[in-house]
Amino acid sequence: MNLEHSEDGIVQRVRAMNERVVSFQEQGLYFYNQAVSELRGGARVLVNGREMGMFASYSYLGLIGHKRINKAAIEAIERYGTGTHGVRTLAGTLTIHRQLEETIAEFKGAEDAVTYTSGYATNLTVVSTLLGRNDYVISDKLNHASIVDGCLMSGAKFLRFKHNDMNSLEERLKSVPQGATKLVIADSVFSMDGDIIDFPRMVALCQKYQAWLMIDEAHSVGVLGKRGTGIEEHFNMPGTIDFKMGTLSKTIPSVGGYVAGKKELIRYLRHASRAYIFSAALPPAQAAAANEAFKVILDEPWRVEKLGANARQFIHGLRNRGFNTLKTETAIVPVVCGTDEAAFAMTQAAQRQDVFVLPVVSPAVPPGLSRLRATVTAAHEPAEIEHAMNVIEAAGRKIGLLDGRV
Ligand SMILES: *Cc1c(COP(=O)(O)O)cnc(C)c1O
Repeated sequence: MNLEHSEDGIVQRVRAMNERVVSFQEQGLYFYNQAVSELRGGARVLVNGREMGMFASYSYLGLIGHKRINKAAIEAIERYGTGTHGVRTLAGTLTIHRQLEETIAEFKGAEDAVTYTSGYATNLTVVSTLLGRNDYVISDKLNHASIVDGCLMSGAKFLRFKHNDMNSLEERLKSVPQGATKLVIADSVFSMDGDIIDFPRMVALCQKYQAWLMIDEAHSVGVLGKRGTGIEEHFNMPGTIDFKMGTLSKTIPSVGGYVAGKKELIRYLRHASRAYIFSAALPPAQAAAANEAFKVILDEPWRVEKLGANARQFIHGLRNRGFNTLKTETAIVPVVCGTDEAAFAMTQAAQRQDVFVLPVVSPAVPPGLSRLRATVTAAHEPAEIEHAMNVIEAAGRKIGLLDGRV
């Protein structure tokens, strides 16, 4: 296909994206895919040959590089090799997969769990396996893209409610015909805003309207609850979620996704979900790393506590400096900049002072709410957080954000 042919839809979309990217690259405002070349311990990394403080990490408990977890991965390679013999249902299941699923089930206070090779694939396959054309799925407007894609793929009637608005959820529930199958689905902690779902009211509504409940705990495992086990612990409401979904790539320093729940539900998913049946099993090193990480979280509860203290310091410090951080209560701290250009300029100014933050712009967030999406972890020390906030404050003054010039 000739890329000069201008009527073609693919050509036009490819060209528009390429022009946008090249224009940002030329202005030095392109922050996509900057490679980290080395981990320097704690929350410091080497990027473009410079050591920076990492303030864009999902490794909330600072477990990347943890000795026990590395050791478990290395031992798994020595025992099983680097790959599996195929998909789980054929020759791909290893004892480490069963151990990991038992560990997850125990950690999540569930009867059983099933793992997949990514969190994205988990949401796609679980929602589309559970629901079909005659069913209803009711989803928060700010839910993660993988949930949205799973809802669309299922072919179910797709209803969305206003972000974290339980009155809006109730209206949607009321609109579903009597007797129809319905699944309510939401992030526990929202990945762009850092706020927590109104879980107690959501659970009560699901019970009142006889709806299934699925919660995506990508940003709450290791973060919420005194032991870091997630949103049920945080609200002291054990056993209230039907499908407890999570990823193995954030707090858990590996890759993969899982769902935990009642054993009949998990058995069903194991025999019916296409990402389990038609996609390769998790590699042994990643399964072993994940398995060990859940144990480390329980063995080192100081990490969860320190993350909470660090998040409070970061949120209050940025608010006191005059930034709009929306309604975050967690380690994800949006610093609203307004325009895409302002978010890029803030990123550039912060990175020049060796504070690694990243911008999030539309369409990932609504126009006008472009931001730095900064995160803290348990690996940060209070002085490092103070320093990063001073750098972000200086950036905000430099580009005119703090005195209202942009
Ligand atoms: C990251 C994320 C996912 C996807 O998980 P991966 O393991 O990275 O594929 C799903 N849901 C939410 C809310 C996430 O933040």
